[in-house]
Amino acid sequence: MSFEKLGLLPALLETVKAQGYKIPTPIQAQAIPVILEGRDVLGGAQTGTGKTAAFALPVLQKLNETGRRSKHPRCLVLTPTRELAAQVGESMAVYGRKLPLRSTVVFGGVGINPQIDKLRRGIDILVATPGRLLDHCGQRTVDLSQVEILILDEADRMLDMGFIHDIKRVIKLLPGERQNLLFSATYSNDIRGLADKLLRDPVMVEVDPRNKAAEKVDQVVHPVALKEKKVLLAKLINDGDWQKALVFTRTKHGANRLATYLEKGGIGAAAIHGNKSQTARTRALSEFKQGKLKILVATDIAARGLDIAALPQVVNFDLPNVAEDYVHRIGRTGRAGSSGMAISLVSADEQKLLRPIERLLGRDILVENIDGFEQNQADKDEETFVNFNRRSPGQKRGRYSKPRQSGAGRTGGNSRNSNHSRARSGSAGNR
Ligand code: AMP
Repeated sequence: MSFEKLGLLPALLETVKAQGYKIPTPIQAQAIPVILEGRDVLGGAQTGTGKTAAFALPVLQKLNETGRRSKHPRCLVLTPTRELAAQVGESMAVYGRKLPLRSTVVFGGVGINPQIDKLRRGIDILVATPGRLLDHCGQRTVDLSQVEILILDEADRMLDMGFIHDIKRVIKLLPGERQNLLFSATYSNDIRGLADKLLRDPVMVEVDPRNKAAEKVDQVVHPVALKEKKVLLAKLINDGDWQKALVFTRTKHGANRLATYLEKGGIGAAAIHGNKSQTARTRALSEFKQGKLKILVATDIAARGLDIAALPQVVNFDLPNVAEDYVHRIGRTGRAGSSGMAISLVSADEQKLLRPIERLLGRDILVENIDGFEQNQADKDEETFVNFNRRSPGQKRGRYSKPRQSGAGRTGGNSRNSNHSRARSGSAGNR
């Protein structure tokens, strides 16, 4: 399958080529022709599958064909988070740069006036988070009466975040006659309910079902005492010479503490979560993307939808409480054909969270003990500072090097004891 065969305009084909995309991803191959036909779509795809281009390219083409009748938006994309809104907005701008269409993004946490100015000047595509969009509607700074296409991106996450009422309020402001596209990584009953109400005779396009996406990613669990997690993480980063890893924590406070700890040890890191200002989040993301920061520590919501290309490692510093979140998290690695590694640091009290995750994946995760870091080891004083940034002479560099040495990261010594044990989960003594 080639992009040419999907029926896209030459201008869009050029853009796709300039982006370096050679063949459509499965979601693009399935969704683009159907969206061009004007059908409603229920898309089962998570971030990393190329779903943004799957809706952005045909939508741009359709808006270009129908032409501009007013200065009010003709396409509305709703996203759960500011970051995802910014990324979708950026994609719309990139994919649409050869077409005379204007797009803008509105989300909370930043000044409303520049957004009002842009809306006043006239736009074709509006990408928005629900709360700020409703603020604009309330102030009558946006008019949704001309919307021809509605896209709900990461609808499952929008429902998780409690946006259902906002979504319903927005839908009431739209014309009844329109095309609807709903993308979701999971199909809960709530999503089915929303899809039933919103979509007319939808075409279902589904790729990489959530438990399949994870198969591209090597996954490992390292049992470790809670208080030793950050020491182990620093060791893994240094021993493996990691250049870019996304680390998930369960809490905002935990994200801050971990980023500070890594920074103190000389590993460039920043935390990204809902309490950070938009400016701080954008700066952290951009420094991470440019390679100025090696480690981005994030909570689930902040990380949702982040488009970070070729992320070699994702770390679950804490396991998520909800198994689906594990799959979302590890979906940040192993993208667009590149291989990825998902590493979970699991303390004794998190063991119970592993089973539901493995059930969802449909398989066990490899458990690998690292010498000196087993769970049953007495917790160390949390405040002990370890000069973990020093690499011992001759220590192996490279992506996630194995075997791991027990002492090197913690003492600066050069222990060669590689007596790490491997066991299938379930059969391991410490599971
Ligand atoms: P998305 O799922 O929309 O977040 O896209 C994930 C990543 O895949 C982004 O970095 C896109 O630039 C990239 N991408 C999208 N479509 C293709 C394609 N056909 N070939 C290669 N990369 C792609």
